Amino acid sequence: MPRATGESCYICGRPDARTRDHIFPEQLFEPPRPQLLTAPACESCQRQLQPDEDYFRIFVASGAYGDPVGQRMWDGPIARSFDRRPAIRARLASAITSQELHSPGGVYLGELTGLLGERDRIASVLRKMVRGLYRLETGTNMPPDTRSSSTTTGPVTQSNRASSTLLDRCQSMS
Ligand SMILES: [Zn+2]
Repeated sequence: MPRATGESCYICGRPDARTRDHIFPEQLFEPPRPQLLTAPACESCQRQLQPDEDYFRIFVASGAYGDPVGQRMWDGPIARSFDRRPAIRARLASAITSQELHSPGGVYLGELTGLLGERDRIASVLRKMVRGLYRLETGTNMPPDTRSSSTTTGPVTQSNRASSTLLDRCQSMS
């Protein structure tokens, strides 16, 4: 077993940080990337979080499909990742849903098509970002029992004007 480095991982707190992790996932940025914030992390946390970060990028890009950057991300690296992992594309296609939209006063505003987000995966990445910023700001790790309110809300629906285009693409790409 390799010797511990002594520096603590900002995600799990174990004194085993051998690498630095991008607090805001690197893949959310187009090259050439700006200098991104990093914090010490262990390789095990990085590995475990990778699928959530992959999912998070898909979720964010789906909501940003009307924007040129979001569209390039969707048509480029995300489409390629679907080729490698068809299971995730199938799972996304089944999570595209239509919901009735109501105003806070209950007035029906129409149908909205969007991606029903996997709340646990999204929350895991949001939590990591908050922990990273806390570590950079204070130099210490956020206490492990810190509660996060993002996990107490319902499923997230990501919708935009381009969502029907998205629906077609997600279901027809193969
Ligand atoms: Zn860790």
